[in-house]
Amino acid sequence: MRATAILMSTILVTGGLGYIGSHTVVELQAAGHHVVVVDNLSNTNAEVADRINTITNTPFAFHKLDVCDTEALAQVIQQHEVDGIIHFAAYKAVGESVEQPIKYYQNNINGLISVQDCMKRFDIKNLVFSSSCTVYGDTKESPITEDQPIVQAISPYGTTKIIGEQLLADFAQVTDTRIVSLRYFNPVGAHKTALIGELPLGVPNNLVPYITQTAAGIRKKLTIFGRDYNTPDGTNIRDFIHVVDLAKAHVKAIDFCETNTFGLEVFNIGTGVGHSVLEVVNAFELHNKLQLNYDFGDRRAGDVEQIWADTSKAKSVLGWESELGLEEMMQSAWNWQKQLS
Ligand code: UDP
Repeated sequence: MRATAILMSTILVTGGLGYIGSHTVVELQAAGHHVVVVDNLSNTNAEVADRINTITNTPFAFHKLDVCDTEALAQVIQQHEVDGIIHFAAYKAVGESVEQPIKYYQNNINGLISVQDCMKRFDIKNLVFSSSCTVYGDTKESPITEDQPIVQAISPYGTTKIIGEQLLADFAQVTDTRIVSLRYFNPVGAHKTALIGELPLGVPNNLVPYITQTAAGIRKKLTIFGRDYNTPDGTNIRDFIHVVDLAKAHVKAIDFCETNTFGLEVFNIGTGVGHSVLEVVNAFELHNKLQLNYDFGDRRAGDVEQIWADTSKAKSVLGWESELGLEEMMQSAWNWQKQLS
């Protein structure tokens, strides 16, 4: 591996044209890193690369490949002399994972093994992994800290994140590597240019894309799943985090890797504040000056009543904290939707 200064590292971003990946590429480039993207385009399209270029005006290398193809991944790593990896490439639809568990295990676990194999072969010491607050399961402990026990996941998707963290812990034990696992809470919103954002396939499962598609007339009505929870307004509480803040956490994490001692570190990445589903709907209406067609329905199976992050570790160790609030989340999500429709 070459001698590196923090600002000149070459970072491989797997899944770099996806929702969180694309925003992270923008922030990595803004911080002065060289970026190499691999993506198999299974849940995005190549045009996202052009859009990132429009935002940053800085070229980056892009290779269309599947991370599970270890030899193809190895070739790219060798060609670009990669210093660190941010690994996003994975399937993420919770409902689909229940229907097709093998597909999720095959892709998400094999993809991570392939990344670890390449790290070993090329002596790459730094890795940031996308994990999720889903590893905490049906917790009652908010704000939740990283030392809460990992429990049985509610879906195969969640299980792939738990197994992923376990694989990383085992790998870190026997290698001289610095690995950071970021447990995301609920990423929402889009880049302020409205050039990149989330591209949900089909009917969205997630709240904010469902809201924006309803406002755009693509869906008739939003159903809020349950109003009889033990929360102030009866709806679920989540820690919604702006995707640009989340992207910046990845830059802090990869920089932290360069200076940290060997081992695995886990961080919650949220705002530290919980908002109810109804609060989000109201914020969307208020900040975009429109009315949303919604009603209340039954609870959705598998939904945790309330969860938000204790973010003090990310603040004190990574030097990261969120900056953007519900207003920016809701406005950027709507601006993104408007240019899609
Ligand atoms: N939600 C809802 N209606 C929808 C989609 C989601 O009321 O059409 C609620 C869901 O019950 C949960 C919250 O919005 O309380 C966030 O759900 P999402 O699927 O976005 O993320 P999750 O927290 O489940 O990962």
